[in-house]
Amino acid sequence: MPRKKNYCNFCGREEGNGLIFLAGINGFICSECVQQAHQVLQEMAENEQKQKNQSLKKDELPKPHEIKEFLDQYVIGQDEAKRYLAVSVYNHYKRLMQVDKGDSVEIEKSNIIMVGPTGTGKTLLARTIAKMLRVPFTIVDATVLTEAGYVGEDIESILTRLLQVADYDVKAAERGIVFIDEIDKIARKSDTPSITRDVSGEGVQQGLLKLLEGSVVLVPPQGGRKHPEQKMIPVNTQNILFICGGAFDGIERKIAQRLNTHVVGYGNVQNVFRLDKDNMLQYIAPQDLKAYGLIPEIIGRMPVLTYLEPLSREALRNILTEPKNAIIKQYIKLFEMDGVKLTFAPEVYDFIIDKAIEYRLGARGLRSIVETIMMEAMFDIPSTRKKTFNVTLDYAKSQLEKANLNRLKAE
Ligand code: ADP
Repeated sequence: MPRKKNYCNFCGREEGNGLIFLAGINGFICSECVQQAHQVLQEMAENEQKQKNQSLKKDELPKPHEIKEFLDQYVIGQDEAKRYLAVSVYNHYKRLMQVDKGDSVEIEKSNIIMVGPTGTGKTLLARTIAKMLRVPFTIVDATVLTEAGYVGEDIESILTRLLQVADYDVKAAERGIVFIDEIDKIARKSDTPSITRDVSGEGVQQGLLKLLEGSVVLVPPQGGRKHPEQKMIPVNTQNILFICGGAFDGIERKIAQRLNTHVVGYGNVQNVFRLDKDNMLQYIAPQDLKAYGLIPEIIGRMPVLTYLEPLSREALRNILTEPKNAIIKQYIKLFEMDGVKLTFAPEVYDFIIDKAIEYRLGARGLRSIVETIMMEAMFDIPSTRKKTFNVTLDYAKSQLEKANLNRLKAE
């Protein structure tokens, strides 16, 4: 007598055709159905996670003080900028909760602009804050942006990145934070002849304005212009927080000009003497950004203006050795992984700092200098039996001399 055929109790398919049948108490399930059930469960779990990520609960949100304490672990100094950032991020969360509740009092968003010399920690602040954020976050460089139709990236590509980090969850991306670096590079160049279009300047600012203001923007999901066939995704930027950073080289002169005319105009000469000439950025005001070449509409959309201080010797020394992932600690770790104990003679630190100041690269220079000093040792040591390596002042000097020093200098 032929064996009775089994059927899947879920889809009714007959046993055979490569299907695997699992027996239950009084029925069967086929491998197709098991696979589908697995997929459904996975999607359900993902959706639940997404919802969890989206819903912000007030008690769980880090308070401005906590955000600043977190930043303190990684970023030396820059108290003013840290406070502004902490408050802005906290307010961003609160706004989102307000939107979720559908409250009638609408809290307007406060995009931020941070002005500070190169290598003083603008990007580091943005990266560090990203570590503790509960919303999608991305860093984009304004220098690659151009108006539609020119070589470079369209302004909408800023949002492509945000979509990507949000795993194409549009709702999540619409609550995210974008850090736009080198915003000063799209300043209008006043001496550009008006007959030629200012590709890198005003047009880009106009485009950016659309994003900052809050509007629905069509975003190419893959970015760029290489995929003309891709279907655009509409993204509403109303609740996206923008943090902009830039060095604004030479803006001190604009600040000084404004302050001088102001003081002379009011005949209050005393103020002149109270100005801290070494750190003019602390007096920065929106007018100075306008004088530098940002259009007033953009400035108006970034109501929070803060500055980063030039790094003092002491700050540079701290940066070298103190933060959780201080540069020196990183090299000690690298050597430790080869079983080598790396030490530095104390005067090497002063030498590194002297060079960083000479090259005018802020803390950015520290890393390149240490890298140059350590390069040869990092190449040789792993193939030796050495268990210790001490960097003396003479060694550091000779390594820097050997390398092509000019490469490190600021233009
Ligand atoms: P920028 O202001 O030009 O954006 P970055 O944030 O990129 O400067 O700084 C470059 C590097 O210098 C960082 O990766 C970090 O190692 C170091 N650095 C700069 N400023 C600080 C700071 N305030 N505290 C700690 N490290 C810093």
